[in-house]
Amino acid sequence: MEITRRGFVKLTGLGAASIALSQLGFDLGPAKAYAAGLKIKGAKEVISICPFCAVCCHFIAHVKDGKVINTEGDPGYPISEGALCAKGASMLPMINSDHRLLKPLYRAPYSDRWEEKSWDWMLTRLAQRMKDTRDNDFKRYNDKGETVNRVNSMFHLGSSQMDNEECAVVHQAMRALGIVHFDHQARI
Ligand code: SF4
Repeated sequence: MEITRRGFVKLTGLGAASIALSQLGFDLGPAKAYAAGLKIKGAKEVISICPFCAVCCHFIAHVKDGKVINTEGDPGYPISEGALCAKGASMLPMINSDHRLLKPLYRAPYSDRWEEKSWDWMLTRLAQRMKDTRDNDFKRYNDKGETVNRVNSMFHLGSSQMDNEECAVVHQAMRALGIVHFDHQARI
């Protein structure tokens, strides 16, 4: 009996069953030939995380010659069990897009062009701007003389890629700066 390509795909997770089938006289030749021609043959499998929402679905990235050549849901991830929504399923073109930014870009005040900057430069700049804003706008008391210790001009947006413990640490750091305005990327 011949096994079709569709039939083989159903059977790929059942190695033991395949051996049993071959012992029962099934012809696995076409299926083996199909597997040998798969574009992911010889690729390294890397587990990664979809960045688009708080579900954080895992996906498998197949990497060959330093390039991601295929992405698919990770059946071992217990939350989504290999499923991806439309955003997660479109991971591959996003990873390889020519429009994807790989380095920080900075546009100076009143400039009409973006400049490429190093991460060190950018993080130093961000830290300096945060400190300047806090130094200028920190209010120890409100108009009634009550202690508030806050900065109304700063806002923090959380990331869906942080777990509960990381969120707790970042939240405390932002509170220590006096930031009282928060939201979360996964909520908007
Ligand atoms: S695949 Fe969809 S549901 Fe899963 S993390 Fe990405 S955006 Fe969220």
